Amino acid sequence: MHELPLTKGIFKSVMRKAESVDAAAINRVVLEIGVLQDFIPEYVQKYWDYISRGTIAEGSLIEIRDKDGEAECGRCHTHYNITRANMFDVHCPSCGYEYGNMLSGNELRIVGIEIVKKET
Ligand SMILES: [Zn+2]
Repeated sequence: MHELPLTKGIFKSVMRKAESVDAAAINRVVLEIGVLQDFIPEYVQKYWDYISRGTIAEGSLIEIRDKDGEAECGRCHTHYNITRANMFDVHCPSCGYEYGNMLSGNELRIVGIEIVKKET
């Protein structure tokens, strides 16, 4: 299980960002995660709830968006997408070859943080 360290890392970045904009509370965090990242979304929320307890992020929601990966065919070098639907049975769309080099799909990005501003 690597969801815990992964979630801790996200939490640190989110808190740093929230502090820099004087957030009073965090409502939602949107993550974009490559389909090759092997993790269980429910766990991320569960760990998040645990880690964020007692902080301004307590009770916030984690929204996860899949990001397709990209592979390059090992034979004809065509680039094609890796999605959740085809990631376990990948074939080059142009020549049918089943081995490709993964070019991307392991990303993990924080694409949005929804906050409540401090009253001034
Ligand atoms: Zn090919």
